[in-house]
Amino acid sequence: MTFPDDLNHLIRTDEPLGPLVWLGIGGPAHYFAEPVDTDDLQRLVVAASQAGLTVRILGDGSNILVREAGVDGLVISLAAATTSGMSVDGTKMTAGAGAKLSHAVIKAVGAGLGGLEHLVGIPGSVGGAVVGNASSGGRDIGSIVHSIEVLEKDGSQRTVSQDDIGFSHRKSSLGGLIVLSVTFQLETRDVAALTKRMQKLWIGRNASRPTEDRRIAMPFVDPDGMPTRDLIQSVGLAGIREGDVSLDTQQPHYIIAHKGATSDQCLRLIERVREQVLMQTGIDLQLNLHIW
Ligand SMILES: Cc1cc2nc3c(=O)[nH]c(=O)nc-3n(C[C@H](O)[C@H](O)[C@H](O)COP(=O)(O)OP(=O)(O)OC[C@H]3O[C@@H](n4cnc5c(N)ncnc54)[C@H](O)[C@@H]3O)c2cc1C
Repeated sequence: MTFPDDLNHLIRTDEPLGPLVWLGIGGPAHYFAEPVDTDDLQRLVVAASQAGLTVRILGDGSNILVREAGVDGLVISLAAATTSGMSVDGTKMTAGAGAKLSHAVIKAVGAGLGGLEHLVGIPGSVGGAVVGNASSGGRDIGSIVHSIEVLEKDGSQRTVSQDDIGFSHRKSSLGGLIVLSVTFQLETRDVAALTKRMQKLWIGRNASRPTEDRRIAMPFVDPDGMPTRDLIQSVGLAGIREGDVSLDTQQPHYIIAHKGATSDQCLRLIERVREQVLMQTGIDLQLNLHIW
């Protein structure tokens, strides 16, 4: 397809996605764009929709596995700085979808606003976090969302309030919508106490991560009542390997893509874990990771 002339300069073809996702593997996007403002984003989405192209949004890429064949359609990255702005108004804080979640946490804490700090250290963007209702310690991001600015595939923009969005464990009803920005409803707290708490949580989270390297993912949602880590340990799958992809030995709810890893190996490992866990426990592990 050809995009309208005034959008052509934004489009790249056969753009490798591996370097843009945490796992570092996978094929190219047939069309790829990184719009610098909402206007360009809107025009890209409308042009792609009118041409019948599938539009996918790439946040920080910490929860996506791209298949070897890559993806058809248009991948839009929200990594541009203009989609990452943040502002505070009283006890509300608004963050652009492309802002890093950890930057949003630091901004809130610095402004003496509590509510986001338990999410510190979770990789990803603010947009990715609300779409997947990121959570930690039993508290999810959806519970502190006030409203979300979204873009529809037809280019229309609207604000949805928390009541309009279904948030459940690691899920939201935002699928199909493009998140532009998120307003959080936070609470006034003491900055020093909040900072201390955030630092403690950050240290704990980093300590529980198997590697400093980015080439990891958390493929499964914790089923009710048992962390995936314990479930996988209990069925003896910690550390198993499929080619150059393995489960960590100590924290087996993480998969690690070693040098030479492929998406097919990742998919085979994930399937093996699901099959074994289902066979041995009757629990059907659900995927957190988005497979493109
Ligand atoms: C080391 C590690 C630790 C993790 N720990 C946790 C944890 O404790 N808790 C937790 O909940 N998750 C955790 N995750 C998973 C991951 O960090 C979260 O799911 C994160 O919120 C994904 O954000 P992202 O920007 O990277 O999204 P991406 O991976 O870029 O995208 C994920 C999905 O969201 C969609 N999306 C992204 N941005 C938008 C947007 N603006 N509009 C519409 N759709 C969008 C994408 O299309 C894709 O379908 C962890 C992952 C890793 C690698």
